[in-house]
Amino acid sequence: MARYSGAVCRLCRREGMKLFLKGERCLSKKCSVDRRGYPPGMAGQRRVKMKEYGLQLREKQKVRRIYGVLERQFRNYFHLADRQKGITGHNLLAALELRLDSVVYRLGFAPSRAMARQLVRHDHFTVNGRKVNIPSYRVRAGDKVAVAESRKKAVYITGALERVADNQIPDWLRLDRNALAGEVAQVPPRESVQLPVEEQLIVELYSK
Ligand code: SF4
Repeated sequence: MARYSGAVCRLCRREGMKLFLKGERCLSKKCSVDRRGYPPGMAGQRRVKMKEYGLQLREKQKVRRIYGVLERQFRNYFHLADRQKGITGHNLLAALELRLDSVVYRLGFAPSRAMARQLVRHDHFTVNGRKVNIPSYRVRAGDKVAVAESRKKAVYITGALERVADNQIPDWLRLDRNALAGEVAQVPPRESVQLPVEEQLIVELYSK
């Protein structure tokens, strides 16, 4: 699966906010948004007033970058969300949150979604007892995600988990630290997806 392979801190600077794409570095003084909080490139420091389309486009790019999803895949998520009952924007965020790499990250097994994706690809996790190595695999309510038996001693997983407090685990997930396993208690409601995004702008963009 193709993915963005450029400098990820540029993406945060372009969106004007921390997207937390690099794990611990994002909380350190090295964060590029803290050091240079303006867009990258020659015109980065020029003030530009955005029109409606620009705002919608930026919102879509922001969400796409947070979850590390390419344009075509993101559009597929939108169409899926649009066909479901309920509010399309909420469905969209829920579908992205329920990607296996995102669930692994939310459970605290990896410091970033990019790292979670890599671990999933390298057979580090099981879903309902079966190995799954597809980062975009759609986890459902009631599914159990666990560290594979052969990887339970991996310090990059146990270390990442130690740095996550219980109150950082979203309420739609249940974590069993001792078993290195978690369960999806329910489809994430919008209020539990604590991201500063206006998903309605994305719906408007794709509805044109
Ligand atoms: Fe974004 Fe993290 Fe880089 Fe800061 S360190 S700019 S939050 S990826």
